[in-house]
Amino acid sequence: MQVPLVDLLAQYHTIKKDVMAAFEDVLEHMQLFLGPRCQEFEQDFAAYCGSAYGVGVSSGTEALELALRACNIGPGDEVITVANTFIATVEAIALVGATPVFVDVEPDTYTLDYCQLDQALTTRTRAIIPVHLYGHSVDMQPVLDFARSHGLRVIEDASQAHGAKYHEKRVGSMGDIGCFSLYYSKNLGAYGEAGICVTSDQELAERLRLFRDHGSRVRYQHEVMGTNGRLDELQAAVLQIKMPYLEQWNQARRALAHMYDEQLRDVVETIPVTRSWAEHVYYTYVVQVPERDQFRQRLQEQGVSTGVHYPVPLHLQEACAPYGYKKGMFPVTEAAAERIVSLPIYPEMTQQQYEYVVQAVKSSLASHAVR
Ligand SMILES: *Cc1c(COP(=O)(O)O)cnc(C)c1O
Repeated sequence: MQVPLVDLLAQYHTIKKDVMAAFEDVLEHMQLFLGPRCQEFEQDFAAYCGSAYGVGVSSGTEALELALRACNIGPGDEVITVANTFIATVEAIALVGATPVFVDVEPDTYTLDYCQLDQALTTRTRAIIPVHLYGHSVDMQPVLDFARSHGLRVIEDASQAHGAKYHEKRVGSMGDIGCFSLYYSKNLGAYGEAGICVTSDQELAERLRLFRDHGSRVRYQHEVMGTNGRLDELQAAVLQIKMPYLEQWNQARRALAHMYDEQLRDVVETIPVTRSWAEHVYYTYVVQVPERDQFRQRLQEQGVSTGVHYPVPLHLQEACAPYGYKKGMFPVTEAAAERIVSLPIYPEMTQQQYEYVVQAVKSSLASHAVR
């Protein structure tokens, strides 16, 4: 049996009719940007998050970059974030000319460790980007308190946690701006590039709108240097169709995760942790195993795809060399990078596939033990 890491074709087949009808409708109207579907999706997604405004943009990376620009963050400014995230979080900081400052993560949730904020703070710090990684929220209250007491902006990177909760609040709604990638493999994904910013600050929402559309409110009148960062109408149509399914898809992910938990608790070194205040949405299901690379190889031989999110921490990437970080500076992140592996998880996964993965994981680790 073949089990992919995610199966987007299976999901497409469940919504194909609606998608095709919507594409036809958009094309017949030939309004391809900032049309009614974009506006409706913005409102629906913002309301779902518990934020007042949504601003659809062209990718998650763009969402983060626009959020930083809307907050006036640029050259000379420092932004604190984690080294255990996708490169886009840090690219956005670099793209506005600011400097990323890394902190380590908590060893069990793999998310930002707020105890480290104090030592990362300088007179140039302007913002924190907590990343809700793998589907689990950052412990936000201490981050928000720290930011408030030092006059910092909080821009949430919620690209891996659409719908996840911190206490009763959805991620993305707690900081100044919440940024989501709507890349096709995310919990809510378009069929191309897409992203969205949510905020409850009207002024920030207006600035985001201005920057995403060439700094202009009225055509050919440019108030500021903006960019081309709009969400297109075909992608908005897909997102509108998928949006009503998000809760049930996240629920399906949780059900699979709980079955994995039961079956693998005593098999792998660690299963994912969910804090008492968190509602996890399992963008990935991350376990730790010894000799990870051989383990992955043995699973691949049995047809089971796995991932590593992420194999090389950002502070050790060549692209981050100019910032001067060294191996050993973020021991929790570095240790995790050698042991973590993501198992297949997606709402359309069948019972057969799930049982097959469990069996393959068990046999891969057992064969390891007798060697
Ligand atoms: C996917 C992702 C992004 C970037 O999103 P794109 O839409 O691919 O630009 C940013 N941050 C995190 C944590 C992500 O997982």
